[in-house]
Amino acid sequence: MLTVTSDTLAGSHATCSCGHDLHSVWVSPHPVHKKRKFWYGVFWGVSGGRPDRIEWKCRLCGDLLAQSTDEILLIRYRHE
Ligand SMILES: [Zn+2]
Repeated sequence: MLTVTSDTLAGSHATCSCGHDLHSVWVSPHPVHKKRKFWYGVFWGVSGGRPDRIEWKCRLCGDLLAQSTDEILLIRYRHE
């Protein structure tokens, strides 16, 4: 599995078991939140704000292709 940033995402090539890469229509970014949402909210004054990381997962085979904790990507994909 790759770890990408906003700089390396476009040039990254990762392929899942069924042959799709990061830019396939079957692979989409999902925000992942840790369970400590309550404390997160207390400290940062937000609820359900920024995710902890983004994971790119193939919807056909379920493989995890990449993940990112890059600030720019966290904000870009937080609602998807
Ligand atoms: Zn796949």
